[in-house]
Amino acid sequence: MFFWSVGRQLKRVPKGKKQTLKCGSCKQEASFYESTVDDSFKAFMVLDLWKRSKRVMQCGECLGVCDYYSVYPEEKLAEEEAARQAELERKKREQEEAQKRQEAEAKEHARQQEEARQKYESEKARKDQEVDDELAQMKKKLGK
Ligand SMILES: [Zn+2]
Repeated sequence: MFFWSVGRQLKRVPKGKKQTLKCGSCKQEASFYESTVDDSFKAFMVLDLWKRSKRVMQCGECLGVCDYYSVYPEEKLAEEEAARQAELERKKREQEEAQKRQEAEAKEHARQQEEARQKYESEKARKDQEVDDELAQMKKKLGK
């Protein structure tokens, strides 16, 4: 277990977890209390101050803290699993959206082809009509 002393802002979680552990810092069997530490850091090139909370367990004796997930590794696994599931869901949604987009594009392409075909057909019909008219006129002339 990794322990460090607290120079940062630490808050005990109300009704948080309590666990008796052998403290790696003061070497006593002590009650540990669930707490959060606010890690403040400045993002490079950005002047906003970001705050990030970290879950820890604090020794009731020496007030040393250790990482919450080193005490409850199964929760870390569960959270990682949940994150993995969420990522899978997100990928699935992305794929579905990509497929929908492709279908829409195919539909649009088919529509454009149909439009071009209809244009061609009507143009052809118009030309056929022209030829028919010319023939009719020629026949008329010949018939005179
Ligand atoms: Zn301690």
